Amino acid sequence: MAKEKSAVVAMLTHSCPVCRKTSIYKNPAVYTYIDLGVMHAECPECKTNLMPETGFYFGAAYVSWALTVALWVSVLVALKVLDAIGLLEFGFLTHPITFLTSGGVATILVFPYLFRVSRSIWAHLFIRVKAI
Ligand SMILES: [Zn+2]
Repeated sequence: MAKEKSAVVAMLTHSCPVCRKTSIYKNPAVYTYIDLGVMHAECPECKTNLMPETGFYFGAAYVSWALTVALWVSVLVALKVLDAIGLLEFGFLTHPITFLTSGGVATILVFPYLFRVSRSIWAHLFIRVKAI
């Protein structure tokens, strides 16, 4: 018998919040820009309704915002570390273009994952097992 995924692993791998077996997205590949946000209406495995109401995933924008802020803070810390060990000359006020360019590139690179994981986190927070 396969070991069940933990809630955190299920969240990060976009698995169903109830059964944690299948992806909530029709195309499980993250870097697909064509059907990036196309989700199953219900889980193919356990039939959990993944679209409980119209506009349910609008709230995932708050999760996305928090993750994007965390990403930009991580970029800032990485640049400061590179400056501290002497690999890059960086100061937040003296080299703003370096920070904006690095943050922009990092955001573009991880956008598909952040978009999907934000919806996944939102689903895991608010979709629960139905009471029988
Ligand atoms: Zn399921």
